[in-house]
Amino acid sequence: MRVLYVSTEVHPALKTGGLADVNAALPRALVAAGVDVRLLLPAFPALLAHATDRGTTCALGPALGAPAVAVIPCRLNGVPTWLVDAPVYFAREGNPYLDPRGLDWPDNLQRFALLAWVATRFADGSVDHWRPDIVHSHDWHAALCPAYLRARGGASPATVFTVHNLAYQGQFPGPTFAQLGLPDHFFSMHGLEFHGQVNFMKAGLFYADRITTVSPSFAAEIQTPAAGFGLDGLLRSRAGALVGILNGVDTEGWDPRTDSALAARFDATDLSGKTQCRHALQRELGLSDGPGPLFGVVSRLTPQKGLDLLRDCVPPILAARGRLALLGSGDTEEEAAWHALALAHPGTIAVHLGYDEALAHRIFAAADVVPVPSRFEPCGLTQMYAMLYGALPLVRRTGGLADTVRDASAPHLADGSATGIVFDAADSTDLRTALGRVFALWQEPIAWKRVQRTAMQGDFGWSQPAARYRALYRELRPQA
Ligand code: ADP
Repeated sequence: MRVLYVSTEVHPALKTGGLADVNAALPRALVAAGVDVRLLLPAFPALLAHATDRGTTCALGPALGAPAVAVIPCRLNGVPTWLVDAPVYFAREGNPYLDPRGLDWPDNLQRFALLAWVATRFADGSVDHWRPDIVHSHDWHAALCPAYLRARGGASPATVFTVHNLAYQGQFPGPTFAQLGLPDHFFSMHGLEFHGQVNFMKAGLFYADRITTVSPSFAAEIQTPAAGFGLDGLLRSRAGALVGILNGVDTEGWDPRTDSALAARFDATDLSGKTQCRHALQRELGLSDGPGPLFGVVSRLTPQKGLDLLRDCVPPILAARGRLALLGSGDTEEEAAWHALALAHPGTIAVHLGYDEALAHRIFAAADVVPVPSRFEPCGLTQMYAMLYGALPLVRRTGGLADTVRDASAPHLADGSATGIVFDAADSTDLRTALGRVFALWQEPIAWKRVQRTAMQGDFGWSQPAARYRALYRELRPQA
């Protein structure tokens, strides 16, 4: 089974969010499951710098406004990879989608159309004579793959399209459609046109043979007007082709028994190292010690993540003698609001604005509670990192948060299956009530430890999800 896996970012070389973590771990898990997976990514400088085993470049000529396009065979994280070399589009440092001012690059349409166009060349056998059985593309950046392959016709590979975040759709003015080189009739309601615009995400959803998203709950939610980002009608019409497969996490990279980023290591049977991690983080961030729980947040700062709700709940956290450490970056106003809170509460609220992988590990290891009050969450990884590191996730019942955290309700506490605290509404009243439950549980150290241990022993690995993707590929190409 040959699978061309098309995306844009891979941890640790280049990461803007959870997609990079998935792209690092899922292909390796698929290889372990016997699938011949090869990555196709743009040759961003950060990816080129991490590539090993570079082979002979294969030239593909000019395309989509790029004077010379080529693919560079190499490996990323040990997985065979081709990097799309088109310097005019991809030789740019920093965020793959945004310019240094944080705005979309003006030529994003051509850049990500080119990525998909190159995927189609594999179907022709134009690259190293390696023809995929399946082209598996991810999020809007790679969403034109199914469209180009459909336009190509003939004996094309089957297509799987995975939605990691439906909020980012890749929309461009209608007249830009002419630049894509797709048949005219593709620009229609029954195609990739969306209210007069070109919508890459819609192309993926419309033309892919199978659609997956990253949790069963999110797969159901996006078929409703309230959570479908305008595409719920199309998703309902494709319900038979849509499936939710829960993400895993890299349980080797995220293991508190071996994590070299931590001040001390620990496991579910001996949590003394976690106490050392808490003291170390408090010293590092200038936080006082205290009788209340330490809250830890690692997040992009966007409205999706609902951290404004958490800001409303600072008074009860402080009243319970809790402290809060936040690592995040994102929207300017969000960053400013958190910065101001830290200034107003020295010693109890510490805010680190920016991106810092090792600090993220130290926060999960030190924290007692990791709030993830997202308004929507396709899967979410931080609640799983929290559980593996013995921090109780405090999450909204939405998407993958609902699918991964079992609420510490009386029955779940009694049968030992609870792993965190779950609340329903995206408002600060509900979050406050949930915080009340956190503080009540905190007063019962034996019950707290039991929840903590159950959480730490959860199976969050990739082997089950990888087996499900493999089964999906097999359904589409039984002979491969
Ligand atoms: P999303 O992909 O929506 O951002 P996820 O929870 O799926 O959310 O994944 C976020 C990933 O990015 C996690 O690995 C998290 O630890 C990491 N992350 C987010 N913000 C930061 C930051 N400021 N510094 C370090 N890691 C971060």
